[in-house]
Amino acid sequence: MGKVAINIATGSLLQEETIVGIDLGTTNSLIAIVKTDTRQPLALRDIDGLALVPSIVHFDQNGNTTVGNPAKELLVAEPERTIYSVKRLMGKSYKDVSKDAGFFAYNIIDDDTDALVKIQVGQKFYSPIELSSYILKELKHRAEHILKTSVTKAVITVPAYFNDAQRQATRDAGRLAGLDVLRIINEPTAASLAYGLGAKQGTESTIAVYDLGGGTFDISILTISNGIFEVLSTNGDTYLGGDDMDRVLAQHWNKELGMPDSDKSAMQQLRITAEEAKKHLSGNDNFSGTINGKQVSITRQQFNELIQPLVDRTITACGNALRDAGLKKEQIDAVVMVGGSTRVPLVKNSVRDFFGREVHDELNPDEVVALGAAVQADILAGNNTEMLLLDVTPLSLGIETMGGLMDVLIPRNSKIPMKAGRQYTTQKDGQGGMRISVFQGERDLVQDNRKLAEFNLTGIPGMPAGMAKVEVSFLIDADGILKVSATELRSGVAQSIDVKPQYGLTDEEVEKMLLDSLTHAKDDIKTRALVEATTEAQQMLDVTEKFLTKHRAVLTDEEIELTNQRIQILQQAISDKDKDRIQQELEILNDISRPYAERVMDAALKDAMKGKKVI
Ligand code: AMP
Repeated sequence: MGKVAINIATGSLLQEETIVGIDLGTTNSLIAIVKTDTRQPLALRDIDGLALVPSIVHFDQNGNTTVGNPAKELLVAEPERTIYSVKRLMGKSYKDVSKDAGFFAYNIIDDDTDALVKIQVGQKFYSPIELSSYILKELKHRAEHILKTSVTKAVITVPAYFNDAQRQATRDAGRLAGLDVLRIINEPTAASLAYGLGAKQGTESTIAVYDLGGGTFDISILTISNGIFEVLSTNGDTYLGGDDMDRVLAQHWNKELGMPDSDKSAMQQLRITAEEAKKHLSGNDNFSGTINGKQVSITRQQFNELIQPLVDRTITACGNALRDAGLKKEQIDAVVMVGGSTRVPLVKNSVRDFFGREVHDELNPDEVVALGAAVQADILAGNNTEMLLLDVTPLSLGIETMGGLMDVLIPRNSKIPMKAGRQYTTQKDGQGGMRISVFQGERDLVQDNRKLAEFNLTGIPGMPAGMAKVEVSFLIDADGILKVSATELRSGVAQSIDVKPQYGLTDEEVEKMLLDSLTHAKDDIKTRALVEATTEAQQMLDVTEKFLTKHRAVLTDEEIELTNQRIQILQQAISDKDKDRIQQELEILNDISRPYAERVMDAALKDAMKGKKVI
């Protein structure tokens, strides 16, 4: 950002494009940049000074859309045409969301339970990706209007617990909105970045990010070491937030007012006034107002009593997150507050008391995630070389080699982007193809790991076993997308495939795979040794048998018999799965056959020299 380049051909100045940071939220979304002159992140605001765009899309009869506050105003009047909380549906099938279906006032289609959900508005069907893209388009327009330049590159944040399908859906929504999504980053990571926590070289810290929004609560424990963020644990409640505070207060008042639930307009009034009161009480001790001409009031003390059970639930979740991360409260170096509901004094105080330290609340809690995304964008643009942000691969990546062994090309915890390669060869004479099976996991045998992809390298020209040189290379880009390619170097035959390494793996599954590898480490080493010995022995048997048929002439009958005997003994050792005996017999067979091979070489040499003069 802010860099000026010169087009050498025309001599004109090229203003390098701003990369924006976007917080695509469940309730509200917003867009931020790092300002060129001040180097500070800044949320972009409309003419009324508002940064938050409600994540709500309204469709009129003709399918035209409005996004944000104008759409929010139509929530009550046109519930079937006004789509909110679409983030809850991202990357999900109907089966995934069916238990929450009651939460949505619009129509979620359930004709094919395993397919990704669709939302019906009028006669049309929309995917959550399309719906999110309308919100992103609105943000993009806002930025273009303010910055007076086109905006095509973005960093978008997602919750730490989002799986690969949800991340991919977010990326697709960006693409649909005309944005090149350079990076998807975790919301708690972004919030920590906004505070500049731990991203400097040589520092290490453990951070708790407490995020209480309108409808969701997340607590994440992260470590940052030398610019590498790692999420240790996440916990929370996808249906707990400021809206619940509004509801308990509305219910409290309605006990006095006695308005019927069926009076939609009165209920709406009640809810709006409750939210107003809640916000007022964040800075004042009393609130009084009117609902449908009737006087209502509440003190902060009373409000605190009403919301105490809600706040307690978040504190319990904090304890669980710490336990899952294997940490004590004292080991947390910083606590970061995110989300509008952290403005509630009882929330702030309870979190401070629980962790026993002051919390970071200096930045606007509604904006802090977008600000962090802008900081990340600035790093990607190459403007901020002081901060370094890297991701790591959660599990090792490799391919299957002979005997079903896992050959790791990129070990777990490698920094990404990352490239690795290794050469392999053919097992059989004239082998025209090679199957490349890509696996993820820590176990020695691929059958215990997770298969990610498989492809065939075909068209290898006929050559003896061991002659082909197949270079397999792995490239993981900055988003964790793995590209695997295989090239036979002698002929140039090549093949490649893109793999998403974490597709569908939850954090728990990753953890389980790591744990399994530890529990089975001893067995794995034994199995690997046996498989390796067997593979080597089988190759030796192949070569020897081939030799026997081809070069019978140079061997005596006794030699042939002796060799056949040893072959049988070795085969027996293989079927007995006795690693030590296999190795022993392999040695013996090798010792016997080596002189034969030398004899053949000598004969060939003599043949070649026949009738030739040596200079
Ligand atoms: P978010 O999803 O992060 O945008 O959070 C929005 C939630 O924060 C809503 O429930 C708002 O009512 C709540 N909120 C916003 N401002 C305040 C405030 N001053 N005091 C208490 N809650 C607030």
